[in-house]
Amino acid sequence: MRILNLDDFSRIINGDVLFDNWSRDIYSVDASNYIIKPELIMCPRDRYDVENLCKYCFDKNISLTPRGAGTGLLGQSLSNNIVVDFTKYMNKILEIDSDYTIVEPGVVKGVLDKELKKKGKFLPPDPASSNYCTVGGMIANNSSGAHSLGYGSTIDFLQEVGIVYYDGTFSQINEKSYAFDPLMIKLFKLLSPYLDIIQNQYPKVTKNSCGYRLDALFSKNKFSPQKIFASSEGTLGLVTSSKMKIMDIPLYRHLLLLSFNNIFSAILQLPLILKFSPTAVELLDHTVISNINKNSINDPLENFGCLLFVEFAEDKSGYIDKKVKLFKEKLIDKCNILESVSDEKSISQIWASRKGALNNVMKISDGSRKPIGLIEDTVVGNESLYDYVRFMIQSFADNDLEYVIYGHAGDGNLHVRPIIDTNSESQVKLMNSLAEQIFKKVIKLGGTITGEHGDGLARVNYIPLMYGDKLYSIFEQVKSLLDPTLILNPGKKIIKS
Ligand SMILES: Cc1cc2nc3c(=O)[nH]c(=O)nc-3n(C[C@H](O)[C@H](O)[C@H](O)COP(=O)(O)OP(=O)(O)OC[C@H]3O[C@@H](n4cnc5c(N)ncnc54)[C@H](O)[C@@H]3O)c2cc1C
Repeated sequence: MRILNLDDFSRIINGDVLFDNWSRDIYSVDASNYIIKPELIMCPRDRYDVENLCKYCFDKNISLTPRGAGTGLLGQSLSNNIVVDFTKYMNKILEIDSDYTIVEPGVVKGVLDKELKKKGKFLPPDPASSNYCTVGGMIANNSSGAHSLGYGSTIDFLQEVGIVYYDGTFSQINEKSYAFDPLMIKLFKLLSPYLDIIQNQYPKVTKNSCGYRLDALFSKNKFSPQKIFASSEGTLGLVTSSKMKIMDIPLYRHLLLLSFNNIFSAILQLPLILKFSPTAVELLDHTVISNINKNSINDPLENFGCLLFVEFAEDKSGYIDKKVKLFKEKLIDKCNILESVSDEKSISQIWASRKGALNNVMKISDGSRKPIGLIEDTVVGNESLYDYVRFMIQSFADNDLEYVIYGHAGDGNLHVRPIIDTNSESQVKLMNSLAEQIFKKVIKLGGTITGEHGDGLARVNYIPLMYGDKLYSIFEQVKSLLDPTLILNPGKKIIKS
């Protein structure tokens, strides 16, 4: 490990430089199982600090890993070199207009939500970690959440980014301004010959955070280069600001809580449920339900096999009432309707039990036996979900493994964690071979291995399996163009970096 010159860093940035053991320990973990201790941590005060830092690190060939709140689940923000923390100073909301907001990357999503709400607006992607995670982290992971079914993922809202490139050059990138950015023009030229493969070889699912999202750059007959930074995990540039599309908060919402005998009877009703265009359809299976804090919702839930949370949103009250009435008529003999509420207080209370799912899942941990997030957040089309879940549950049964399943059933995006003894070499081996087996099944069904949590360290090796050699070699060319000396978040997205 190189000896970093601390005096240099204190001179080139106005923000903080942390290198004490305590800070290095704090930044050595995120929400994954990895522990990697950084050499030092920088908290830039502004874009100019980030420019100076990148320029210095490029000259000295030192690597940099940007970091938001560290809630990434796959080790994305960990590094043994320099970690750049955007939360301390670069956390401001710069502008809120009628249909967009401009923010610094370190702003916490929950803080932004509160400010937008005062103006009757919202930024729809809603990770369950919203009270902690930052917009910068959401962009880099292409995060979403319960309402991506109705509104889309972070990538769909990204209109412009302020980026500091590997060598300290700054660029403001949107669908028009890229024409003045030599690197973005080179990117366009690099990708143009591959349009066919880019348009045809990505999975046709509603959400995807695997690899680089080149498909999103060419949708709707436009070139949208700012979207290359969504889902890039800080490997192509450091985001110093972003302009995000925002929407009007719908005037009326209605939330139904449905219970089914088991996960299969719930999945079988999904096609019917989706015909009603809900904004969210979320699932908790019995393994999660039995761990829910029973105070967060009125009724004890442990007797139910599987729950679906189905939300509708409209701006016309008569319309939503009619829709809910018809929905109930169609579903009444297929499940139990436990709750049907339209007031904000009840809606938030019921959603709280869904939002706390991962925290409850983590409480299942017993010493080295833990629910491990490698399979984590695959997506398959709804027509394949039943077959896929059968295959997966059978694989766990064949290997005597307990598991948890919950998540965004409406998008075919399930969070799946087998419970593994991390001290047992054979169980860890089994976990890896099961993941590969399940990923192969997902790919065969036309899905993606990650819908929102990203690749990080845990899944970078599966990216070539997901996309094939040709597309993966294009990813490598993109990385070489935007980070030729591989100093930006090495080991993420591109294996050899
Ligand atoms: C309890 C829990 C629930 C969760 N629920 C959801 C969910 O419902 N939906 C979902 O999508 N995710 C969820 N997540 C995962 C995680 O919270 C999200 O991916 C989140 O958006 C990460 O944000 P962060 O600020 O913590 O980013 P970090 O974890 O700090 O970083 C994530 C990535 O962003 C990069 N990055 C950060 N800032 C910048 C920047 N300025 N420029 C370039 N790159 C940058 C980092 O290098 C890293 O690669 C959950 C996590 C937990 C712990």
